[in-house]
Amino acid sequence: MAGEPQADCLFCKIVSGDVPATVVRETDTTVAFRDINPQAPTHVLVIPKVHHPDGASLAAAEPAIAADVLREAGEVAREEKIDATGYRIVFNTGSGAGQTVFHAHAHVLGGRGLQWPPG
Ligand code: 5GP
Ligand code: ZN
Repeated sequence: MAGEPQADCLFCKIVSGDVPATVVRETDTTVAFRDINPQAPTHVLVIPKVHHPDGASLAAAEPAIAADVLREAGEVAREEKIDATGYRIVFNTGSGAGQTVFHAHAHVLGGRGLQWPPG
């Protein structure tokens, strides 16, 4: 069923605590933790606790939780003090765009210059 934990999903295992992560923020609906392979001085992933395969699917099924993810991304930026200099929120969607974990997640990237358009 949509939203239910998936046994083979890495980020569901981070939500349940079966896989450890460096958690920086947690709410009733979201978890934010440091990316294991950071691409910037700040690189935090914000995920919903419910399982949906990507950000757009999450927004279609549970828009209030998608809003929670976005708001938490902003809170992470504020806490990490990257909000003044600028930061990026990225939802890679589909393997062709670099998505490797098919549980919705927002990358929060900052602390260095960010090129646009991205590579
Ligand atoms: P995607 O490529 O799907 O947009 O992003 C997945 C992200 O998850 C990657 O940036 C990758 O470094 C990160 N990642 C993969 N495995 C783990 C893990 O076990 N722990 C943490 N904290 N991050 C992970
Ligand atoms: Zn999942």
